[in-house]
Amino acid sequence: MSYTDEVLSMLAEKNASQPEFLQATKEVLESLRTVIDANEAEYRKTALIERLVTPERQILFRVPWVDDNGVAHVNNGYRVQFNSAIGPYKGGLRFHPSVNLSIIKFLGFEQIFKNSLTGLPIGGGKGGCDFDPHGKSDAEVMRFCQSFMTELYKYIGADVDVPAGDIGVGGREIGYLYGQYKRITGLYEGVLTGKGLTYGGSLARTQATGYGLLYLTQEMLKSNGIDLEGKTLVVSGAGNVATYAIEKAQQLGAKPVTCSDSTGWIYDPEGIDVALLKEVKEVKRARLTEYAAQRPSAQYHEGKGVFSVKCDVALPCATQNELTLEDAKLLVANGVTAVCEGANMPTTYEATEYLLANKVLFVGGKAANAGGVATSALEMSQNSERLSWTFEEVDNKLHGIMVNIFHNLDEAAKEYGFAGNYVAGANIAGFLKVADAMKAQGLV
Ligand code: NDP
Repeated sequence: MSYTDEVLSMLAEKNASQPEFLQATKEVLESLRTVIDANEAEYRKTALIERLVTPERQILFRVPWVDDNGVAHVNNGYRVQFNSAIGPYKGGLRFHPSVNLSIIKFLGFEQIFKNSLTGLPIGGGKGGCDFDPHGKSDAEVMRFCQSFMTELYKYIGADVDVPAGDIGVGGREIGYLYGQYKRITGLYEGVLTGKGLTYGGSLARTQATGYGLLYLTQEMLKSNGIDLEGKTLVVSGAGNVATYAIEKAQQLGAKPVTCSDSTGWIYDPEGIDVALLKEVKEVKRARLTEYAAQRPSAQYHEGKGVFSVKCDVALPCATQNELTLEDAKLLVANGVTAVCEGANMPTTYEATEYLLANKVLFVGGKAANAGGVATSALEMSQNSERLSWTFEEVDNKLHGIMVNIFHNLDEAAKEYGFAGNYVAGANIAGFLKVADAMKAQGLV
């Protein structure tokens, strides 16, 4: 049995109840097979691939909190510190009822390669809680965040592990988490990113993932002789990534016509009104029915369906496994040119295979949404030098990083015989740097 297959079967045996983690490791190891085969003796000797798929540390903790009626609740908190070979652990916190160890491990594993691809010195980690901020008062969210940080603070630090936001963790939550960290430790340090601008946040961090997705998409299309300008886009999600992807797409002359949330989706043939979307989602924290109510050109549909709309480029920006094989077939039947993932692993394994087999240009989230974490690392740099850079400075650096990421993965794909397979290219380019650092640091 090859080393890759041995590790895959060990993973399946030890993680039978963690489907998302198995899906993520399988996707990565399959695309690294050629590289692993070529270095089998060396990697086996140092158990390099077993170490790569095994988190350095997994922290599971209880989060007790009291609601506005005085009723006590308990949630499950997680922080998985996956790999610190190239820098301190870095990765978001997700607050969503679906959070479990499988999801946090899958996200932490993906984060290793994504962070490596940015070219910046950051390791991989992820955390979160099965707490649902929807429908909670600000006071409840604050008490919850304070309780969460009262346990988490022991394991993080500006040079140790620097969490950020993710689904359900935006500016409000980061503020409460930061306040509690500072209160307990007395340290005013860059321990979290995605902070508010008045207390150490970076300009352009809010926009970074969505903007970065468009910078990379534009560069990838350009290198295939296609102009983004004038193209019709479908976008899923209506959160941070989706909103700023839509905004940048419009600035670059493309036309996004959809968005969605967990209950329904919008088709707006005249193009999404970003100001209205922000008002509905960021200010009122309302459902998309509110958007449709205020925009005559918009149609609202219950359930899911954005990928049934004819488009040139699809940008899934909501959550994992939202773009299924059926969606991929619809996209191909409707003549889609490219799919770039704003969310983490939004495309199922089968759907990815189908898109690649049908010659759709496909860039996975690891590369396509790396702009968020890259800008978080820029926030860390600003905190370390106690300076803030202008919006243009950060945005220009972000643009350069996304262009570099595309060319690095494109070249890695070509070098290892996978020309045009950007999934393999991203995994290989991300892996090689981490593997090299792990080899240099010995058996730790
Ligand atoms: P938000 O919480 O801001 O938005 C998530 C959006 O997706 C919301 O519109 C939400 O709907 C929808 N959604 C969430 N879960 C589901 C579900 N199970 N089914 C259908 N819709 C769902 O999160 P972000 O925009 O920050 O993150 C989106 C994705 O991008 C995630 O995969 C995240 O890991 C990834 N990502 C985010 C980065 C960032 O910087 N924010 C960086 C890199 C990756 P509703 O409004 O109803 O809650």
